[in-house]
Amino acid sequence: MQALLDVRHLTISFHTYRGLLEAVHDVSLTVNPGETVGIVGESGCGKSVTSQAAMKLLPAEATEYTGGQILWDGRDPLGEIVGGSILFENQDLLKLPEKQMREIRGGKISMIFQDPMTSLNPVLTIGNQLCEGIALHQHLGRKACEAKALELLRAVGLTSPEKRLHQYPHELSGGMRQRCLIAMALSCSPRLLFADEPTTALDVTTEAQVLDVLKRLQAELGMAVVLISHNLGVIAQMCRRIYVMYAGAIVEEGTADDIFYRPAHPYTQGLLASLPDPAQKDKALTGIPGQAPDLFHMPEGCRFYPRCPQAMKACMTAAPPREEAGPGHHYTCWLAQAAAAKEALP
Ligand code: SF4
Repeated sequence: MQALLDVRHLTISFHTYRGLLEAVHDVSLTVNPGETVGIVGESGCGKSVTSQAAMKLLPAEATEYTGGQILWDGRDPLGEIVGGSILFENQDLLKLPEKQMREIRGGKISMIFQDPMTSLNPVLTIGNQLCEGIALHQHLGRKACEAKALELLRAVGLTSPEKRLHQYPHELSGGMRQRCLIAMALSCSPRLLFADEPTTALDVTTEAQVLDVLKRLQAELGMAVVLISHNLGVIAQMCRRIYVMYAGAIVEEGTADDIFYRPAHPYTQGLLASLPDPAQKDKALTGIPGQAPDLFHMPEGCRFYPRCPQAMKACMTAAPPREEAGPGHHYTCWLAQAAAAKEALP
């Protein structure tokens, strides 16, 4: 099957006051039409930056990138895609001019951002914000835009949608705002939706409702979803395939069953072991010891080795190879070769 999104060897750096920082290293991932793919990992591992790059929404891409020159003003870090390609429907997005990219962004690829309060414009009504995107991409008149906005608010399950059209974001609850963001993201029936921690700010009941809305609309529209989360429960509920990221790199990829029942990488194993077990309520939680590495001082060999319970000498000095644990199940680790070497001993 031809992938809808094909990210190859993507490397992203940020210009910061401490120098150049590599936030994403050699990331490759694919998303097929209509499927839900999860990207999971700790905060700061590069999940959101990868999705922002796919929409060319890194600060430098949107505003400051001129003729291959990054103009950094010394304040907010500016991102730069230093290597790789991002193919969407076989078209390299990195080679598209901004004008064409604007038609794809919001039209064919859309995004739900992390925080509904800061993602919505506080001085515009929900109706105005929804109509803005619809008018831009579908070239409809005011009346038709409002009718479409109403239809969308109904589709995401908002109560009294006519009233919500005329309300401001601060007049709505967190769950309602998140539903509005979903409505906005889906207003042009995109082929691909990035949902970046779409339920982080919500309580468990609202989270379940919002995920149900997402699932239902995905099936109705036949769109692909990339769900970005540090919440393994959300990922398990929604995703068919999963990428696990650590310190800017993908360390394991496979089906949901591979990741949850046959994790091969020690980091994935650590993540799963740190989940609370409802059957053993008295058991203390086990976390992964240590902290994710400072991206300015990345370990030379395996990025996970300072925290890995199975680390070996080779892990300190050489980057681990990509190994196959099964069909479509890959992980980046020295363990397989160490086991093979032991077996080879007389
Ligand atoms: Fe652990 Fe070594 Fe595998 Fe890295 S390469 S995850 S340090 S065993």
